[in-house]
Amino acid sequence: MLRILESVLNGSPFYSYVMVEFDTTLKTSFNLIFLRDNCTCTECQHPDTKQRIIDVFGKNGLKQSECHIRGDALAQEYFAGTQFEVGELLVCKWAGGHTSKFTKEWLLVHSYAPPLHPSKALLPERSTWDAKTFEQLRQELDHNSFQQMTECTPRVLHNIYEYGFAFVNEVPVTLKATKEVSESISIIRPTHYDLGLWDFTSDLAKKDTAYTSLAIDMHTDGNYWYEPPGLQLFHLLEHSGGKGGETRIVDVAKVLEVLVHLAKADESWRGTFDVLTSQPLSFYQAGEESSVYTQDQFPVLTISEKLELLQCRWNNSDRSPKISLPCKFPTGQVYEALFRFNSLVNDPKYYVQFQLKPGQILIFDNWRVLHARNAFSGFRRLCGSYLTRDDFLARLRCSMNDRKTVLDTI
Ligand SMILES: [Zn+2]
Repeated sequence: MLRILESVLNGSPFYSYVMVEFDTTLKTSFNLIFLRDNCTCTECQHPDTKQRIIDVFGKNGLKQSECHIRGDALAQEYFAGTQFEVGELLVCKWAGGHTSKFTKEWLLVHSYAPPLHPSKALLPERSTWDAKTFEQLRQELDHNSFQQMTECTPRVLHNIYEYGFAFVNEVPVTLKATKEVSESISIIRPTHYDLGLWDFTSDLAKKDTAYTSLAIDMHTDGNYWYEPPGLQLFHLLEHSGGKGGETRIVDVAKVLEVLVHLAKADESWRGTFDVLTSQPLSFYQAGEESSVYTQDQFPVLTISEKLELLQCRWNNSDRSPKISLPCKFPTGQVYEALFRFNSLVNDPKYYVQFQLKPGQILIFDNWRVLHARNAFSGFRRLCGSYLTRDDFLARLRCSMNDRKTVLDTI
């Protein structure tokens, strides 16, 4: 049973609130404007799309005039006459006759002052890896096959999110099969390089070192875009008459853990951490006649309040000489941080190296995992795709949870 412990209805309409107690003696407060704004009835929330229909800001002239609280004229007395009924539900009878009903579950999930419910994770926990733990992990994750793609897809999505990579085996060595695997994971992202799947040899078809047989250092793709590709997928179709071309990958989420540890212990590493997480760098791509891409808004590591990696941007080849202004750090300190980051991601303790092989697809998180390629000789044909991140996340969310859980949680 719910109980109302306290309500303040006469103050500023933005600060009017009700304090509710649950069975378990848990208590929390809700601003009345929050409850009015988030009424879940079918007049206030579209039953099919789940979108908010009520407009408390009053821009669109909502049909139900009683639902329409104009921001500029939000009357001091608007909430003053609110009547509550409690039991299994919290019922709010608003001025103008509208009634909102909130279930105990809804109130718990959406409580905030204080929050009473740990927010349910709709996505897996992340696990980081280094060179030592990768091999074991790879063996554990080696059970996804093309023949069973439908059954394997939820696990592939989960692997990519949890570890930053996944493999799919026994794939026919064709563009068609590569496209099928791509599309089972997400939507293929078109770029100025290719509108769908890409497929290249070292013929310099595009003016980028990827299209040569040169070594390519550790990097993420698309740093010169505001939206770098969320995922990448590689499928080696052929490598004949030569050697080399090994792939290296490193888990930047692990490198971030190392950086956090070093920054806690040492002032100078604290400075390095600050540079890497807050000084924007500039990147560019100028290989095509008709387009020049550049952006200078993001640091090497974009991280969350909880110090989790949200996005890494790193590519020595595409880094611009321009220093993004305002530069909050002496240039020497910026370079020291870049040297330190570069040496961590190229430390054999953290990166792993292996050969791609025809029939085995590698998918990895381009916001988390850096990749590199050794120089090679002979004929080498690699195909693959960029995949959109949001569609991958949406599919993962729905493969891990039933739809009701997802909707109740957002
Ligand atoms: Zn309503």
